[in-house]
Amino acid sequence: MTTLVFNLRQEFTTPNRIIVYNIIPEGGYLCNCFCFSVQLERSVRSVMWVAQEKQVTRVEELPLIPLRGMLVFPHTVTPLDVGRTRSIKALEEAMIRERTVILASQRHVEEAEPEPADIYRIGTVAEVKQLLKMPEGQLRVLVEGVSRGRILDFLHEEPFYKVRAYALEPDVIKTREVEALMRTAVTKFEQYVKLSRSMPGEILATVNTVEGPSRLADTIASQMILPVEKKQLVLESIDVEERLQLLCTLLTKEMDIMQLEKKIHLRVRKQIEKSQKEYYLREQIKAIEKELGEDQDSNPEIREYRQKIAEAQMPDEAEKKALYELERLYKMPPMVAEATVIRNYLDWLVAIPWSFKTEDRLDLDYAAKVLDEDHFGLETVKERILEFLAVRHLTGKVKGPILCLAGPPGVGKTSLGKSIARAMGRRFHRFSLGGVRDEAEIRGHRRTYVGAMPGKIIQVMRRVEAVNPVVLLDEVDKMTSDFRGDPASALLEVLDSEQNDTFQDHYLEVPYDLSEVLFITTANVLSDIPPALRDRMEIIEIPGYTEYEKLEIAKRHLVPKQMAIHGIKKKQLGFSDAAISKIINGYTRESGVRSLERQIASLCRKTAKEFVQSGKKQISISMRNLEKYLGSPQYYEWQGEKEDRIGLVNGLAYTQYGGDVLSIEVVVVPGKGKLVLTGKLGDVMKESAQAAFSYVRSKAVELSIPPNFYEDYDIHVHVPEGAIPKDGPSAGITIAVALASALTGRYVHRDVAMTGELTLRGRVLPIGGLKEKLLAAQRAGMRKVIIPEANKKDLEEIPDLIKEKLEIITVKHMDRVLDVALVPKALEEDLPSEDAIEYLPAVERKTWPDAVHGSTQ
Ligand code: ADP
Repeated sequence: MTTLVFNLRQEFTTPNRIIVYNIIPEGGYLCNCFCFSVQLERSVRSVMWVAQEKQVTRVEELPLIPLRGMLVFPHTVTPLDVGRTRSIKALEEAMIRERTVILASQRHVEEAEPEPADIYRIGTVAEVKQLLKMPEGQLRVLVEGVSRGRILDFLHEEPFYKVRAYALEPDVIKTREVEALMRTAVTKFEQYVKLSRSMPGEILATVNTVEGPSRLADTIASQMILPVEKKQLVLESIDVEERLQLLCTLLTKEMDIMQLEKKIHLRVRKQIEKSQKEYYLREQIKAIEKELGEDQDSNPEIREYRQKIAEAQMPDEAEKKALYELERLYKMPPMVAEATVIRNYLDWLVAIPWSFKTEDRLDLDYAAKVLDEDHFGLETVKERILEFLAVRHLTGKVKGPILCLAGPPGVGKTSLGKSIARAMGRRFHRFSLGGVRDEAEIRGHRRTYVGAMPGKIIQVMRRVEAVNPVVLLDEVDKMTSDFRGDPASALLEVLDSEQNDTFQDHYLEVPYDLSEVLFITTANVLSDIPPALRDRMEIIEIPGYTEYEKLEIAKRHLVPKQMAIHGIKKKQLGFSDAAISKIINGYTRESGVRSLERQIASLCRKTAKEFVQSGKKQISISMRNLEKYLGSPQYYEWQGEKEDRIGLVNGLAYTQYGGDVLSIEVVVVPGKGKLVLTGKLGDVMKESAQAAFSYVRSKAVELSIPPNFYEDYDIHVHVPEGAIPKDGPSAGITIAVALASALTGRYVHRDVAMTGELTLRGRVLPIGGLKEKLLAAQRAGMRKVIIPEANKKDLEEIPDLIKEKLEIITVKHMDRVLDVALVPKALEEDLPSEDAIEYLPAVERKTWPDAVHGSTQ
């Protein structure tokens, strides 16, 4: 060990740090020096060095060949192609001088003429083994790495790089750690080779024969597929233990990446294989089908369906479904049951209209003309229909509330629907919802059921063959009467313009657009329509007709229509007005004109027979011969009672067939104070009878009735036509009048009819169906009608003809009802005395205390 003192040219150390410096004294030998202590003086920087002589290596001047994108490790033989002028020159120089060169990688591959700064400082001192001149001046050489070499500095750059460098040969001590690292490296390398698909297995044999740790590390590193920077790292790690460790890490990392690569590769390959397999099989099927003459286009059924599907212009979803089912049908043996199911399904899909539209006629004048042509009267209804059409015309949408025509049978609801369709130039279809109990009737059954079919809505669409018909849903109120499932909610989906563009039929399975359809509903009783449905409807009420209206309808529409149907010429048959009126009153009892039309039809039939049989030229129907054709009248014009009676009062009722006159009877018989109610009365009506009874009892004194009369008498209230169920509170005042009359023994006017709900305190509350009730009263020949004051506003809608014929008295309180209905005492003398006996067998007036009796007189 020698102590040397050098003057340093550069300030490159700090005190008390151990630094290794390569110092080249005279003679060109290098000492690896360890700086143990450093003394720094301001003027002369001197350092004390301890040199280890055995580390000293010879520094040489060598030609340098920069390597591009590669690296040569010591102890490996590598072919090189040398093309750059500087490198060729360097090689030539080497061939003169002991065939030794130093090979160092350049940092950037793209650099054609690298600067010294672009060349790594650690490279490989190598010996040129062979040299081969290639065409175009290139050289191919075989070099063998001898040892690592450190470049100290560049001596010159032209005509080739000459550097001062020395060989670095690490001191190798084979410790146990090194041994273990060697084994690990070998094992890992074996795995690496196995994983890598491009490496030949013989490499392993080569590696296994290598003995020294440094050599082993270099051999393995040279075989690995790594970027130059990483290989350079290996080359630069002089310490063998460090180098082996670095190698193991690199191997592990590379294997991870390779494994991942393998996984990705596998996945991609699987996908490719699958699609390739499918493609291959499909091609095969096609080839087989072609051989057998069985491809889809040669099967006439499939071809026909395909054409129909294309022609049907379905929306994408439906077409996709149809083609899918067609494919299934094609693959199925023709005789299996499932094939029939698919055929039916396809038949439906291609038969229903998907896009064909009839052209709308939006001419209001024409619409008004059509409505007038088809219907007499109904002015307000026609006006509202025209308004409805006008709004549609302006908004240009079919969306909006659904029209609901409400009224008794035979008032022309269906024929109005037909007229609307005619006015708009649309196709028309009517179907009845009466008796529809099941959701499936609207929405269809799923295809899994045997004999499944689409619902009524889709059936209608198939029949009309256009996407924009007028569809009349008759009797929506009847649908709920005994439902199973919930047809109403299915119908809601049909009618709701917000959702009916994707109507779901269970059978079709694809949405169907109903938004172009104009739905019109009809109902007899509004209160029976489910509320959710009623909310979405614009209700137009059509009450019954008066006799005059019926006469006009018959003359203008029904008679000509029926004559035409029966092939009778205009001149052949005539009707007198009186005869038609007789038919209306004697042969029909209805709010509409349906039975009237039937009777006229029957007359036409009978006269037609006569024309044919007896060769008559002309017949005119008059009062004289009416009975000959129609038989005796079925209804006698009920003119009310012939006489005023006690305990018998005319009430007015409203049924789904229109208005009606109901007489209410009360008798008082000996008993225990029971109130008997008969005539198939509903709960509400029974309660209103009890309320009326309590009211009369509370007014006993004013009415001159003995206060405790009920102790000895039973009171029986009966509403005739006992088989017909009756309900509602509007008979309250009628029952009260009948009770008062029976108990007081006072007569009731026979030509007064009344309607009104009664409270316990005698107030009269409003009722519904006024027009129908007034029509019925007029039909029955009533003179006066008592109605609640609160119904006065409804009188505006009542035809003048009725108001002229009837004296309408509006009342607020029961007192006034009694005043109007009961015959004044003074007039009673003229009435037949039997009446009193008949109705009050036991109530002998003389048994009642005079004082009480006389109080109101
Ligand atoms: P609804 O559907 O209300 O039960 P319809 O529409 O079936 O009644 O009518 C029964 C018959 O009466 C039809 O032939 C219809 O043309 C005729 N009809 C009803 N009202 C009128 C009217 N105002 N003018 C002309 N004909 C009418």
